[in-house]
Amino acid sequence: MNYRHAFHAGNFADLVKHAGLLRLLSELTASGGPLMVIDTHAGRGLYDLGGPEAKRSGEAEAGVLKLRTAGDAPPEIAPLRKAVADLNGGGAMRRYPGSPWLIAEALRPGDRYIACELRGEEHEALQAALKGRGPAVRTLNADGYAAAVAECPPKGRVLVLIDPPFEKADDYARVVQTLAALRRKNPAAQALVWLPIKDLETLDSFLRDLEDEVSAPMLVAEARVRPLSDPMKMNGCALVLVDGPDLSQAFAAICGWVAAALGDGGAAKVYPLSPQ
Ligand code: SAM
Repeated sequence: MNYRHAFHAGNFADLVKHAGLLRLLSELTASGGPLMVIDTHAGRGLYDLGGPEAKRSGEAEAGVLKLRTAGDAPPEIAPLRKAVADLNGGGAMRRYPGSPWLIAEALRPGDRYIACELRGEEHEALQAALKGRGPAVRTLNADGYAAAVAECPPKGRVLVLIDPPFEKADDYARVVQTLAALRRKNPAAQALVWLPIKDLETLDSFLRDLEDEVSAPMLVAEARVRPLSDPMKMNGCALVLVDGPDLSQAFAAICGWVAAALGDGGAAKVYPLSPQ
């Protein structure tokens, strides 16, 4: 298990994921009863943009640092821009918020959050990042796929964020199995999945498996930052929203801006999936 998100924090793919997540959370917390959020792959919660990993990769520089000064970013990205500015006290951008920080900040009294992280060192940093949030916010040093199904309540509102590193060949299959198991346990469970786009074959086969195994309305939003000519590179990323509110316009605005402003010959696309 070599993946370290510190190399990638604040890159174009984090912007798509986190702007989409904040938009979704604002819908889900605008009304309705208590919400439980489960984050299967939480990471360390907060990232140091001045650290050696971020400096070496340069990914935040090509992502969130460009967002900070962009004059053309759509309103759908404004909440993420504000969250980053708030975290940095309005000053120089030294830290970037991971999904745990963004989720914990967005929840209402009565909502709950479980953040799962398998790697011991990352889990310790996650605990520190979420310290003082009270008993409604828990972390688990555990496999997030299994923990999400175990912790998912059989009734009530639950949102599961699934954001694996995709460094193992079985990550795609485990996402599909986990979504199917969550929906069997709680037919109202909602989910947001992040995935990289490297080549079309892998993306298509994952989406076909989702259609076959998960019986729920699903929306796919793609942000490609370059043509898919080199399958060894991350040429874009996608979000799959499972049984969520209609965010097609918001996701199109987010992905469209990222593809145009941070990409080179990229494109955005948003479309529904039809379960079989
Ligand atoms: N969701 C985070 C965010 O948006 O800030 C980033 C998560 S990062 C892409 C993936 C994380 O999953 C890494 O920190 C890695 O250590 C962790 N991980 C890998 N396999 C895991 C598993 N089976 N269960 C839980 N965490 C896992």
